[in-house]
Amino acid sequence: MKKGIIIAIDGPAGSGKSTTAKLLAQKLRYKYIDTGAMYRAVTLFWLRKNLPLEEKAVCQILPEISIDLQYNNNGLRIFLNGEDVSEAIRLPEVTNFVSPISTFKCVREFLVEQQRTIGANGAVVMDGRDIGTVVFPKAELKIYLVASVEERVRRRLLELKQKGVAISPEEVRMQIIERDRIDSTRQHSPLQKALDAIEIDTTNLTIEEQVEKIYHLAIEKINNQKS
Ligand code: C5P
Repeated sequence: MKKGIIIAIDGPAGSGKSTTAKLLAQKLRYKYIDTGAMYRAVTLFWLRKNLPLEEKAVCQILPEISIDLQYNNNGLRIFLNGEDVSEAIRLPEVTNFVSPISTFKCVREFLVEQQRTIGANGAVVMDGRDIGTVVFPKAELKIYLVASVEERVRRRLLELKQKGVAISPEEVRMQIIERDRIDSTRQHSPLQKALDAIEIDTTNLTIEEQVEKIYHLAIEKINNQKS
C-alpha cells in the first residue's frame, strides 16, 4: 500500500508551481520533485555538447545522461552525472532552449519513466506541465495553477534579480510567452489542464495563501483515503 498520495501541480511558467510545491511538500513531509529541473538538466547537457537542435542529435546523447535529485540543507539539489547543476540549470541560456528540447518524444519518454519510478510509492508533490495528464493521470490530487502574464513576469524578474541575473522585463515577458506557446502547442504531452484538475488563479494570492489552499485539499484527500 502507498504511504501517501500523489499530488500533481501543473501550470505555465511563473504560475507559482515550484515555490508552492516545495512548501506544500515540507508541510506534508512529502518528497518534492521538480520535473522542470530534469528537462533543464538534459538541456544543459545538450548545450555543453554543442550539438544542433535536432531530435536525432538529442536522442543520441540521452544514454550518457544520469539525473539525480538529492535533498540537503539547501533543499532540493539536481545532479547531472554526479555534478551539482542546481544553479547552472537556471541560466537564461538553458531557459531559452528548454522548451524546444522538451518537445522531443525521446526526451519526454526518458524523463517520464524516471519520474514515474521516483513517485511510484506516493507521498510526493510533483510539479511540471504534464504530471496530471501524462506522468500520473491517476494522481489523487491534481492542481492547475494559473496567473496573469504581468504577475508571472513580475515574479520571474524578482527571482532572477535575487540570483544576480540582469535581464529586462520585456525580455522576461517574451521568454514566458514563447515558452508557454511551445509548451502548450507541442505534439507530445502539451501543457493542458487535466479534466479532473482543480484550477487555482494565484495572481492575487500570497504564497502562504496558495499553499494553505492546496494543503487543505490534500488533507481532505489523505483523510478520505484512510477511511
Ligand atoms: O518548470 P520550469 O520552468 O523549470 O520548466 C522548464 C521547461 O521544461 C518548461 O518550460 C517545459 O518546456 C519543460 N517541462 C515539460 N514538462 C514538465 C516540466 C517541464 O515539458 N513536466
